[in-house]
Amino acid sequence: MSVPSATVSGYARRLDILRSELPAEGLDGLLLSRLSNVRYLSGFSGSSGHLLMLPERSVLFTDFRYEEQAAAEVDPAIEVRISRDGLLAEVAAFLDERGLSGRLGFEPESVTVRERHELGELCDRVTWETAPTWVESQRVRKDGREIELIQRAAGIGESALEEVLSAVREGVTERTLAAELDYRLRLAGSGPPPFETIVAAGPRSALPHAQPSDRELRDGDLVLFDFGATVGGYCSDMTRTFVLGRAAAWQRDVHEAVAAAQDAARRVIAAGVAARDVDETARDVLRSAGLADRFGHGTGHGIGLEVHEAPRIYRRSDDVLEIGSVVTVEPGVYLPGRGGVRIEDDVVVEEAGARTLTRYSRDLIEL
Ligand code: ZN
Ligand code: ZN
Repeated sequence: MSVPSATVSGYARRLDILRSELPAEGLDGLLLSRLSNVRYLSGFSGSSGHLLMLPERSVLFTDFRYEEQAAAEVDPAIEVRISRDGLLAEVAAFLDERGLSGRLGFEPESVTVRERHELGELCDRVTWETAPTWVESQRVRKDGREIELIQRAAGIGESALEEVLSAVREGVTERTLAAELDYRLRLAGSGPPPFETIVAAGPRSALPHAQPSDRELRDGDLVLFDFGATVGGYCSDMTRTFVLGRAAAWQRDVHEAVAAAQDAARRVIAAGVAARDVDETARDVLRSAGLADRFGHGTGHGIGLEVHEAPRIYRRSDDVLEIGSVVTVEPGVYLPGRGGVRIEDDVVVEEAGARTLTRYSRDLIEL
């Protein structure tokens, strides 16, 4: 499957925006180590890489395993250096060769204490400062290509889910269904899964982050699937909850309340809306159904190159939704010992509302 890459000018523009932020912190450059940020700024998708961004140039450091991949993926305007003795040693050698000094920023969340120490030892002419989360902030607003990739990931997820439903029957285990879904996702064109697929049935569906177990499905079980696909590194993330056999009245009631909360939250989403108001909207609907105390997590999160990124939609969030963000909306209700229902969609924040990328039915389907 062909994946559109950001245009050369796309990466250059992202780097230019980042460069324009440097003076505010008195920095002369940045060493980017968070792999999703390295990918966002250079196109490189390998698992080992640092991107050094200086005022006049950018250099990607990776190791021998990724020599060919880097040549194929990295924006041609970015120099690639292949290290044989450790990436940070190569960064230091590069800075030394050019006699570079000054204040460079590093990303504190993706540099270990050991690496931080190494930076100080190897690059003694450079002062290292923690950099603000500029790239993460830039990533909040997706461009058309990024949204298209998430849309494609969501479509792969929906077709794989549809295929796996025929395998849902009494006696099949959660583990088998999860493996079947992962297999279908890959066949349908997904890259590596963005997170471990959740299949939880019966009372186990009341565990919001259940790991698929060897429990066999029984008639009357709620069956919850929470899973995602990736295309070009961009993630989808969706949840649907079904019933095996005929739904009991309480299952219908809970499902209806969650669907109403989810729908209300999606309707309130628009550029400029406070994320916590979206959370409160979902919580309000569940409160009037007497179920608010069984909804113990946030309503949603941003998705993109990572499955959990800004903005965060929860009770204490200070984030304000921005145009072009892609977020999940995923209220749930969990009744210990009985079961849980969660419904999760991916939506794009637009000027006046939300455009929902996941279109799979939100009705309670009896399998
Ligand atoms: Zn999910
Ligand atoms: Zn999610």
